[in-house]
Amino acid sequence: MVFTKKHILQLTEGRCFYCGCGLTVATMTRDHVYPKLRGGAGRPFNLVASCGPCNWRKGSKLPTHELVEYVRGLYKKQAEARRARRRALPSSVLSVSCPCLSVAK
Ligand SMILES: [Zn+2]
Repeated sequence: MVFTKKHILQLTEGRCFYCGCGLTVATMTRDHVYPKLRGGAGRPFNLVASCGPCNWRKGSKLPTHELVEYVRGLYKKQAEARRARRRALPSSVLSVSCPCLSVAK
């Protein structure tokens, strides 16, 4: 699965992880919970939506273990919700090929 800014923003329901102000995909920044400068990966479990001022203020400060675990929990909850939505779909829907995907000849 490709993880986009939209997915990251959904984790915090459209809000900055740190101050709670409202964000959009256009106004958000991706904050590396474990700072990129210190080897933090730009992958899910290490990214949260942040407003510019909070991201700048946080800089390369190291997170607490509790913060890292909290963010991991958010991602796990999001993945579980996605799996639950998929399970709720009737299997007939999942096996139908969409005509939009067929290539015109
Ligand atoms: Zn903020």
